[in-house]
Amino acid sequence: MTLPSCPDCVVVGGGPAGATAAHELSQAGRQVVLLDRAGRIKPCGGAIPPRLIRDFDIPAEQIVARATSARMVSPAGAKVDIPIERGHVGMVDREHFDAWLRQRAVDAGAVLIEGRFLRLERDPDGMAVVVWRTDRDDHAGPEQRLRTRSVVGADGARSQVAAQTVPGADRGRCVFAYHEIVAVPDQRPADYLGSRCEIHYDGRVSPDFYGWVFPHGATASIGTGSADKGFSLRRATDELRQRAGLADAITLRREGAPIPMKPLPRWDNGRDVVLAGDAAGVVAPASGEGIYYAMLGGRLAAQSVDELITTGDVRVLARARRRFMREHGRVFWVLGLMQRVWYANDGRRERFVSICRDRDVQQLTFDAYMNKRLVRSRPLAHVRIFFKDLAHWLGLVRA
Ligand SMILES: Cc1cc2nc3c(=O)[nH]c(=O)nc-3n(C[C@H](O)[C@H](O)[C@H](O)COP(=O)(O)OP(=O)(O)OC[C@H]3O[C@@H](n4cnc5c(N)ncnc54)[C@H](O)[C@@H]3O)c2cc1C
Repeated sequence: MTLPSCPDCVVVGGGPAGATAAHELSQAGRQVVLLDRAGRIKPCGGAIPPRLIRDFDIPAEQIVARATSARMVSPAGAKVDIPIERGHVGMVDREHFDAWLRQRAVDAGAVLIEGRFLRLERDPDGMAVVVWRTDRDDHAGPEQRLRTRSVVGADGARSQVAAQTVPGADRGRCVFAYHEIVAVPDQRPADYLGSRCEIHYDGRVSPDFYGWVFPHGATASIGTGSADKGFSLRRATDELRQRAGLADAITLRREGAPIPMKPLPRWDNGRDVVLAGDAAGVVAPASGEGIYYAMLGGRLAAQSVDELITTGDVRVLARARRRFMREHGRVFWVLGLMQRVWYANDGRRERFVSICRDRDVQQLTFDAYMNKRLVRSRPLAHVRIFFKDLAHWLGLVRA
């Protein structure tokens, strides 16, 4: 493998955001180096919507399970089963999915190097220099440097690229999510379905988010998240395993990671760096969904870098965020409001699960998740939902 002496772009981070940016820039004919810290599987529930599968050409073999229904569980144990009509939620295994995305970038021409980004320096002529190190076993290799015309920072939540280069990035806040990957026994527990995602809204499982049981074929991801540092995510996960009948199942992995709570106010340094995915703070509030948004962020960052190299106009970097927020800013705002209102206490959670019985709510919510759009053709349904929500929120309707 020969490293180009000054590539068009160094993409830092080979998760969904970085691998997508590297793939699309390479396809556009740009010289790209993809720098990824090797050896860690991203902790993730792995649920992806059909829109992602379509927009990013994900082959069927990457989908390890297909969920055709979702079960919402309330604090009092009420269960609402929602069929997922006209499609399914795909489940990916991040160990193989991310590796496949990186390989796709390499096949398109990107040079992949394993190493840990340390810092961004500047040559005397102002050109960016990415400094990284290859960690082998227990000892750190020598520092290496590469001049580059641009950088995409896609190194995940608490991004080093963002903290060092983009003003205000160090102020982004995160919740912490934890999950356990368990082997599902051949003799399936009575209440476990390999085609159903379970979502538990319950203060015992999370005081401000939700817990999940997601099927992954032979395994399942069971976990929860919270911004409350004193809350025991492990104990809550034990509780979820009990409920799913998987308390005694073999645990294959225990792992956790931060999830950003809000898109950063800036995604670029006004010069030659642009952020994408978790590094830019982009995860949907209320659902914690980040893979689709990371890949879209990678695509938009690639477009901005491509335009920068063509035109030399540094203002094009800010377009990545503008384009993203134009398409998804409103949905993020609504989801943020929903999380604040409905996840505040168990009384509200009980009502929230109760309104999910409503067909209008089910159809609109799932269409928004599956296809990433709010359906404008059904304004009356929106009005009905607004008044139903209000009635539930004010306690005028019994949960
Ligand atoms: C427990 C949990 C469950 C989740 N469940 C879901 C779900 O079901 N569905 C969903 O859509 N989203 C889910 N998410 C969110 C989703 O995982 C993220 O939003 C998504 O992975 C973001 O992609 P990314 O490429 O921006 O970052 P990441 O996937 O975090 O990738 C960052 C990459 O950068 C590399 N890197 C980091 N630091 C360096 C460095 N210094 N040098 C070089 N490389 C570096 C890492 O090795 C990694 O490959 C979940 C998150 C968590 C924590």
